[in-house]
Amino acid sequence: MTYTHLSPAHQELRDHTSKVAAGLPAAGEPGRINRPLLKALSEHGLLGRLFPRTSAMDLCVIREALARHNTEAETAFALQGLGAYPILLAGEKSVVDAWMPRITAGEAAVGFALTEPGAGSDAAALTLAATPDGDGYRLAGEKVFISNAPDADVYSVFARTSDNGARGITAFAVPGDAPGLTGTRQRLVSPHPIGRLHFKDVYVPATSVLGEVDGGWRVAMRTLDMFRPSVGAFALGMGQAALDAAVAHTSEREAFRKPLKDFQAVSHQLADVATSLQAARLLIHDAAAAYDSGAERTGHLSAMAKLFATEAAQRAVDVAIQVHGARALEEGHLLEHLYREIRAPRIYEGASEIQREIIARQLYR
Ligand SMILES: Cc1cc2nc3c(=O)[nH]c(=O)nc-3n(C[C@H](O)[C@H](O)[C@H](O)COP(=O)(O)OP(=O)(O)OC[C@H]3O[C@@H](n4cnc5c(N)ncnc54)[C@H](O)[C@@H]3O)c2cc1C
Repeated sequence: MTYTHLSPAHQELRDHTSKVAAGLPAAGEPGRINRPLLKALSEHGLLGRLFPRTSAMDLCVIREALARHNTEAETAFALQGLGAYPILLAGEKSVVDAWMPRITAGEAAVGFALTEPGAGSDAAALTLAATPDGDGYRLAGEKVFISNAPDADVYSVFARTSDNGARGITAFAVPGDAPGLTGTRQRLVSPHPIGRLHFKDVYVPATSVLGEVDGGWRVAMRTLDMFRPSVGAFALGMGQAALDAAVAHTSEREAFRKPLKDFQAVSHQLADVATSLQAARLLIHDAAAAYDSGAERTGHLSAMAKLFATEAAQRAVDVAIQVHGARALEEGHLLEHLYREIRAPRIYEGASEIQREIIARQLYR
């Protein structure tokens, strides 16, 4: 399909990504980092497209195309981006040189470690302590729901350096094998690699600070601003896959001596889904283009894109299951898989309610 609002280069990127997604290595072990998949994402040029010149539009185009065909590849791709962007954005040259080539080559897996047991939506309430010690810092505390933990090779970790709310947070690049850093897996409804991280006086040199001391909040927010429209694109790709499946199934399956598509109660539901997915696509691409243009204050556009797309995609999957009937709920069915995958994006990188807060704040500025 041609999306007239996309440049020919982005249409080509979408088509290339779709082709790549179809030929990627087999699924890995659920809940574990799939390293052959990371390597393949690099070999096909997708990680190279992310770094060093990250573009929100590229991210959205790639994430939608991967999600439509292969959610595991999408997740692996997105996590490399989210975890590494703080290093790329704010790391000292020695840290960038140490990690970015390996991350881009798919040889090092990376995690973005912000959330804590007592600090989720209110991330600025985080308490993991970074205390000065000689030429560096000692990190002590806990992170939870960290994607790629506990097996990532490096984490962008956000820690408290002073008692000053969002202005007392510092970002660090912390190697996964740093003495004192341990982790445990968490099992979610989807087969996502995710876990807890326990920091027991983990030493990091001052050179591993990403950006300014006490300036980590800005690093976290700039990263999330870049990635937020593309979370919508991930959901959109899954919603589109669900719609594709629903169109195919209702064209074939007969009930009461005619194909399901000939019942208007069925086809009009799919028409509504197609319309909301296209609206989501336009919101996503508009937010991404605004971000890439360097325009000031695009956060509300990203919030609208993520909010609308994740909710529309959830509805798309639900409708697709309804028109498939029982078979969609059988273990191993694409829609059973999408049903488990589609839920989390409405919670992470800002729950839907937080997106509404961002949009409302802009309204009343
Ligand atoms: C699959 C998955 C992957 C994740 N990956 C990462 C990762 O890589 N790195 C990382 O740091 N974190 C990650 N997270 C954690 C995620 O960012 C948090 O779950 C999210 O920020 C919400 O925090 P919480 O779960 O503690 O919910 P809480 O903050 O406890 O909020 C619970 C609910 O309360 C409501 N709520 C909260 N605040 C408000 C408000 N101001 N107004 C109205 N309603 C509100 C919302 O409905 C919200 O969903 C991941 C989570 C999941 C599910």
